[in-house]
Amino acid sequence: MSALLELQDLRRDFSVGGGLFRKRRTLHAVSGVSLQVARGEVLGIVGESGCGKSTLARMMLGLLRPSAGRVVLDGEDLATLDRRSVARRVQPVFQDPYSSLNPRKTVGAIIGLPLAVHGIGDASSRRRRVVEAMERVGLPERLYDSFPNQLSGGQRQRVAIARALVIRPEIVVCDEPTSALDVSVQAQILNLLEELRRDFGLTYVLISHNLAVVEHIATRVAVMYLGRIVEEAPTELLFRAPRHPYTRALLAAVLTPEPGLGVPDPGLGATFPNPLDPPSGCAFHPRCPMALPRCRRDRPPLVGGVACHLYEEEKAA
Ligand code: SF4
Repeated sequence: MSALLELQDLRRDFSVGGGLFRKRRTLHAVSGVSLQVARGEVLGIVGESGCGKSTLARMMLGLLRPSAGRVVLDGEDLATLDRRSVARRVQPVFQDPYSSLNPRKTVGAIIGLPLAVHGIGDASSRRRRVVEAMERVGLPERLYDSFPNQLSGGQRQRVAIARALVIRPEIVVCDEPTSALDVSVQAQILNLLEELRRDFGLTYVLISHNLAVVEHIATRVAVMYLGRIVEEAPTELLFRAPRHPYTRALLAAVLTPEPGLGVPDPGLGATFPNPLDPPSGCAFHPRCPMALPRCRRDRPPLVGGVACHLYEEEKAA
């Protein structure tokens, strides 16, 4: 199956810091990520905050140019397409529905904005489409003239989802779509996303720090650590037989009473490293309970869906 969205050796650096006595330094936020997303698939991308997953999302949305590599949308390099045509086909749903919604606009105006920007329909047909989209995401029409601060967190996220869907994109990139919401509302929003995907034949990229969230609807999961993919597998396989020690730690975090707080101890003593000063060799080695002497020195390539020397050793044995 050909990919609808393809990331080819994608890299993104940022120049940070600097001052009177300090040199500017380069932060390698994304370091050579290659992924394919087939039409109708839900690719989950998981990792702790600072691992580069939101930078990756912004590149997929055409909001940030890669430093190197390409984002290819249905055979076309995103860099050669204008922002509007990318936005027509790839839409975001961001983490915090409050800050991503204009507080001075009504629900109807917010959801209808993409239709106006893309010059779709006239005022009355736009209103009809907005009301349809509201109904589809479970928002009653009476909220059409409400402002974001009059809505609950779950309702605000429904507005953000309706705004993403109203122009019928092919791909929706959801960056932490539930992490600002109460636990009781999270499952409702995930169920809604899944229903909409089925009904509209959408393709999702779902980004989260919490494996439990992606397990809900992802068909395949890529685990990111310090700008790189360390494991990639179909969701069922990843949960049944995780291979990378970091994936196993994330799974252990899911099983703790407060999932999503990051990689738990015990076993992983060191904290998340400074991305400006990443560890040598395998970047996970200071936290890895299974580190080998060579892990400090050699960075493991992603082979057969996992980037870990343990599996190279197994294959060689
Ligand atoms: Fe652990 Fe080494 Fe595998 Fe990295 S390469 S995850 S340090 S065993």
